[in-house]
Amino acid sequence: MTHDAQLAATRAAVLDRIAGAASRAGRDPGVVEIVAVTKTVAAERIRAAAAAGFASFGENRVQERQAKATDLADLAGPDPVKWHLVGPLQSNKARRAIELFDVIQTVDSLDLAGRLDRIVGAGGADGGARSEPRRVRVLLQANVDDDPAKSGFDPEALARDLGAILDLPNLAVEGLMTVGRQVDSPEAARPTFSALRHLSERLRAREPRLGPALSMGMTDDFDVAVEEGATIVRIGRAIFGARPHGG
Ligand SMILES: *Cc1c(COP(=O)(O)O)cnc(C)c1O
Repeated sequence: MTHDAQLAATRAAVLDRIAGAASRAGRDPGVVEIVAVTKTVAAERIRAAAAAGFASFGENRVQERQAKATDLADLAGPDPVKWHLVGPLQSNKARRAIELFDVIQTVDSLDLAGRLDRIVGAGGADGGARSEPRRVRVLLQANVDDDPAKSGFDPEALARDLGAILDLPNLAVEGLMTVGRQVDSPEAARPTFSALRHLSERLRAREPRLGPALSMGMTDDFDVAVEEGATIVRIGRAIFGARPHGG
């Protein structure tokens, strides 16, 4: 198979697994967005993945997205692919992140939310091709496992700060995101995913302005995440193969 045909087959296989998981949970598989995570993946292969039908891509570092942006400028055509930031965002890179990404999945403090809001509000970020002012699409990252190794809002802090974040006029808060703990079986990740869903239900009962998106699940456990309600899965290795060590 050619590279492109292989990526199309991979996409079909991933969609199949999502459909299976959705059907086990009585959910509509059509609402699950695949974000193809391209850290360490070269621009050429990203272009091939877009040609194979992947429409959303994720990077975990602003610099890496920036390094590939010129090479991938052609993907910003009439039906542009979407870029999601899925790694931690330092506040000094907030402006670049707004310019380079369509969705920032990793808002983990009221401070960062406020900064993003102010940058957009001041018209200070060059939206490139997007000349219209826009609200920044964000997800709030929650650390539902209380894992010191992971960033994200502690659920109590999120409950406390949520109203203030939702009041920010230039953010569209579409939902929640979590990065699960390292576990040795997909089943072991389930409590994390169900905890994020329950957190979302609890917060939305009080603050319906919080969007319903749930970004959870990666290569090893996205089936379980879909069973537990994921609307966005972030998949790297199952699409592009193993990353170089440490990637
Ligand atoms: C790398 C990464 C992924 C994708 O991980 P895979 O195991 O390769 O599917 C998902 N989410 C985040 C935040 C990542 O950094």
